[in-house]
Amino acid sequence: MDMLDVIGIGIGPFNLSLAALIEPTRLRALFLEKRETFYWHPGLALPNSRLQVSPLKDCVTLVDPTSSYSFLNYLAMHGRLYSFVNKRNASTSRREFSDYYQWVAQRLRTLRFGEEVVDIVPFKDGYRVNTSTTTYLARAVVIGVGVEPKIPVCASAFVGETVYHAADYLERSPPSTGEHVLVVGGGQSGAEIVEHLLTRSVGTRITWATSRTNLLAMDDNSFANEAYMPGYSHRFHALPLQQRRSIVEREKLTSDGVSTELCNRLYEMLYERDVAGSLSESFRLLSSVVVTNITSHDKRWRVDLSGIATQRGHRLSVDRIVLATGFQPRTPPFLQSLLGGARMEEGLPVLGPDYAVCFSQQMPGPVYLQNQSRLQHGLQSVNLSLVAYRNSLIINGLLERPFYVNTAERQVLEGYETRGKGVEPVVPRSAQHVAAIT
Ligand SMILES: Cc1cc2nc3c(=O)[nH]c(=O)nc-3n(C[C@H](O)[C@H](O)[C@H](O)COP(=O)(O)OP(=O)(O)OC[C@H]3O[C@@H](n4cnc5c(N)ncnc54)[C@H](O)[C@@H]3O)c2cc1C
Repeated sequence: MDMLDVIGIGIGPFNLSLAALIEPTRLRALFLEKRETFYWHPGLALPNSRLQVSPLKDCVTLVDPTSSYSFLNYLAMHGRLYSFVNKRNASTSRREFSDYYQWVAQRLRTLRFGEEVVDIVPFKDGYRVNTSTTTYLARAVVIGVGVEPKIPVCASAFVGETVYHAADYLERSPPSTGEHVLVVGGGQSGAEIVEHLLTRSVGTRITWATSRTNLLAMDDNSFANEAYMPGYSHRFHALPLQQRRSIVEREKLTSDGVSTELCNRLYEMLYERDVAGSLSESFRLLSSVVVTNITSHDKRWRVDLSGIATQRGHRLSVDRIVLATGFQPRTPPFLQSLLGGARMEEGLPVLGPDYAVCFSQQMPGPVYLQNQSRLQHGLQSVNLSLVAYRNSLIINGLLERPFYVNTAERQVLEGYETRGKGVEPVVPRSAQHVAAIT
């Protein structure tokens, strides 16, 4: 059996970017995905959904703008480069970006689909990666198994055709005329689903329940977005836990809010319904409430809600419940056992600045972990902003030399300040005012 340099487990955007950036290196790599083909949250690929970051935050561009796996090259290959520039809006739809990812996936030779990893066992020289059909060996592994739906406890026993998570929204039959649909969750997914229901489902009654006090818009201004720069992330990583926790809380809306355009579109739609005199019987928004109980009743669902501030109870009878209640890191049993000896912080493994897990005991090789370090690397760790940069760090770590000393690296290096005992806050010049604030 050949010993590979690295195996990536899971092929979502994060490990896809790693595979694209590894190609020009001499690393012998393999990436394993349980699905039969590449998908990016297919159940939420709604027609109006937009990518919430610049499409230049693709698999490669911010680290290697000359790579053929860039979004710009994808546009050129599909004959849309001029029309993309001409449309005067530099953003793209999630559907187009998903198509871009599929195009990257089709061109990479190191990806294997339809192979679910069931175990990772350390041995003397590296890791034995067992899938349902075979075993591979590698001296390092990069875990990119992504996120899974978060389902409220009171709903978990009822998940099926008419109670389901937002992640399955497009995979379920649409509501029929006269149905009363409860959408739970006031984040971007909940808002996208409500918009879809308002546009597509004629005669559907919608109740939208959120624990938030209002529809809170995403803070997407350029200063706020400095939090999604390499230097900021390095500096964040070096802070004490208490400070990191409070920054994540304070800056949550730079990632968890509803896009301003969508908030405004929804408001306009509701206004028009009001003008037409059909708002009150077709739509209701309940803010500052939590769902406390669900029971099945006469082929419908009886839902109890409680006001967060008032503790006042409220009961609804609905036909369908869509849970836009967020996602959480996926931690399959094999991962829990592999990470058993890791140093922990707030229930998650401690990662170094290069995303390698810090173990209390000697391990045969590095284990890198994607998408699980919100409290350690900041909010960028769960979004696409620094995906290429993060993977350049992983590649440099695997090669034990700086292969990717490029735009992002230089930007970080420029920001280094030497203070007594070595290199201290890593802040690119552009982010220094943010450093001053935090
Ligand atoms: C609906 C939605 C929209 C988003 N939109 C944006 C956005 O616009 N901008 C932004 O910056 N961020 C966005 N995000 C956040 C983030 O970018 C995505 O969650 C992204 O998909 C994370 O990529 P990933 O590779 O970590 O995980 P995932 O995309 O979840 O991929 C993980 C993969 O691992 C596979 N897998 C799991 N277990 C195994 C196993 N045992 N063996 C083999 N394969 C396995 C899964 O099948 C899956 O394909 C969005 C998130 C969601 C949910």
